[in-house]
Amino acid sequence: MTKALPGKHNTPRFWNEITPDAVDANLPPTAWRHEATVNKQIQVYAQLHLLQLLMDALPVCISYIDQNRCYQYANTTYQAWFGLKPEEIYGQPIERVIGTEAYQKAKANIDRALAGEHVVYESVMPYTAGHRYVQGTLVPDYNVEGKVQGYFALTQDLSDRKAAELALERKAEREHTLWQIPQRIRQTLDLQSILATATEEVQRYLGVDRTLILQFTADHTGTIIQSTTQSNCPIAPDSRQWQAEGLRQLCHRHYGQGTVRAIPDLDVEVNDFCINHWIALMAAKSAIVVPILQPQPRGASNLWGLLIIQTCTTYRQWESGEAELLEQVADQLAIAVQQADLLAQVQCQAQQLSATNQALEQANQRLNELSHRDALTQLANRRYFDTVLQREWKQMARSRLPLSLIMFDVDYFKQFNDRHGHPAGDDCLVTVAQTSQQVINRATDVLARYGGEEFAVILPQTNLAGAASLAEAIRTSIRNLNIVNFETATETVHVTVSLGVACQIPNRNTSLQTLIAAADEALYQAKQTGRNRTVCSE
Ligand code: GH3
Ligand code: MG
Ligand code: MG
Repeated sequence: MTKALPGKHNTPRFWNEITPDAVDANLPPTAWRHEATVNKQIQVYAQLHLLQLLMDALPVCISYIDQNRCYQYANTTYQAWFGLKPEEIYGQPIERVIGTEAYQKAKANIDRALAGEHVVYESVMPYTAGHRYVQGTLVPDYNVEGKVQGYFALTQDLSDRKAAELALERKAEREHTLWQIPQRIRQTLDLQSILATATEEVQRYLGVDRTLILQFTADHTGTIIQSTTQSNCPIAPDSRQWQAEGLRQLCHRHYGQGTVRAIPDLDVEVNDFCINHWIALMAAKSAIVVPILQPQPRGASNLWGLLIIQTCTTYRQWESGEAELLEQVADQLAIAVQQADLLAQVQCQAQQLSATNQALEQANQRLNELSHRDALTQLANRRYFDTVLQREWKQMARSRLPLSLIMFDVDYFKQFNDRHGHPAGDDCLVTVAQTSQQVINRATDVLARYGGEEFAVILPQTNLAGAASLAEAIRTSIRNLNIVNFETATETVHVTVSLGVACQIPNRNTSLQTLIAAADEALYQAKQTGRNRTVCSE
């Protein structure tokens, strides 16, 4: 009968236990029952065989461990896991089959199962045949007296599932990091802090010893503009190393098409690419070099710089995901560089615009002043005189105060021109203007060139007497210049002025025109009565 049983070499207790003898042990030993017993035995063996086939077909490890911690059963999957034959398992202690390290790790669970506890655990098991992430279920086996005589163990290899989970987690983390970098890039437009953030994030996320950003300069050499380094890198990057003639062209050949170079061993590949030699000089063991390309019109691209990561103490077999991540960071950096360039241009234009605006404002101010001023004498011009006179007229009307006006004209000026020439006449007018201006002391008084050799003074809050005395002061100061106008046979005639003065407190019955007409009339009177004199309007 034992022939039908597998693994008969060791006659495992587990199978012995379920023999028909044991099952039917209590049957009375009578002959008529003997045949029935044999039939029953055949039935049970058939069932056991089916059970055996089923256990071996399952892709999980099923075993039975006795109270001495020795195997009584292990299915085919279990045997395959450990690469052992049944005779190398049955009757053997757990520690010998799974290895001391794994046994030590599992011991607490085994103790609990043998103490009668239903145990479920998940753990990485350091089996001699390799590490596996497993889920174990230990079910205690009781004898008829209710004592634990062993346990059934169901062990499932979740390594693949766990690896997939970890890969997913890593992917999610990578995507998160990737998402953060552009996020920060968008948050700031300051290129320097973007580069600093990028190198720190890459360094942290990939756990490398150094992260560098190399920028190609206008003279086609390269400069390290950003670096993050762990203390285990003994040699600092020397910026002068990178300043080789034609470095950009050389690198363009290797990286211009966007190729990423993952170099696990720089000792071997030191001469292959444009900058390997220099990375190796920093005592780097492994590196990844990614181009930072700026898209150009017509599909071309410009090699702006390189993003470089390296290890300093150990060689590293790079994963494809790591190179991919760097590639994406490099793309983000390229965008940031472009944004920064645009921003710089905009800022420059804004500065230029502001400078232009300022110059324009100054020009306008100057223009405004010029439009108020008489070009020859630099006094207020006729237009400004009209404006001020109107303004003061209204102001004096409101405050019921006197407004005085002096009109004065150079005597015999035609003769001065005839005698001394027109340019000298101009000079004379300038002298008359400056001399008159010096006599006027109030800031609100306005001396203007009324036209030709005629001038006017607006005197707000000034009565007729005050205006008259100012007019006299102007007249005498000009006469006292003693500028010769012309000579006759009997006398020397000097440059003089005649002045007409008028004053009004603006009211309903008066107007600006009456004031001007009054001053004009007084001036006419001064001319008529001999010139070089002041006449006041009544
Ligand atoms: P009166 O005493 O009656 O005022 O005689 P006048 O000669 O001064 O008067 P008139 O109106 O006959 O001549 C004014 C002269 O002033 C004529 C003109 O050429 C001269 N004049 C007016 N504006 C200017 C100027 O800007 N520069 C020069 N050099 N001469 C001027
Ligand atoms: Mg005149
Ligand atoms: Mg005149």
